[in-house]
Amino acid sequence: MEEGCLSLPDTWINIKRKQSIFVRYMDRNEKEKECELNKLTARVIQHKIDHLNGVLIIDYAPLVDRLKLNVKNRLKY
Ligand SMILES: [Zn+2]
Repeated sequence: MEEGCLSLPDTWINIKRKQSIFVRYMDRNEKEKECELNKLTARVIQHKIDHLNGVLIIDYAPLVDRLKLNVKNRLKY
């Protein structure tokens, strides 16, 4: 599925992600919880976890496309 990101306006990258994920997290009361997420919710959480790990959607693009986007973005500013 094509994915965009507010960190990279006007950029869309085709990214393969798991359709279903199992997540363990702490709620605001620091109580540990678990759940299974599917489809778009699973995609959004994987995208957000990538951000926490310093990964952007551009990191999934082939090198040639990354270079083209780099040039395009430099021309904007
Ligand atoms: Zn993002």
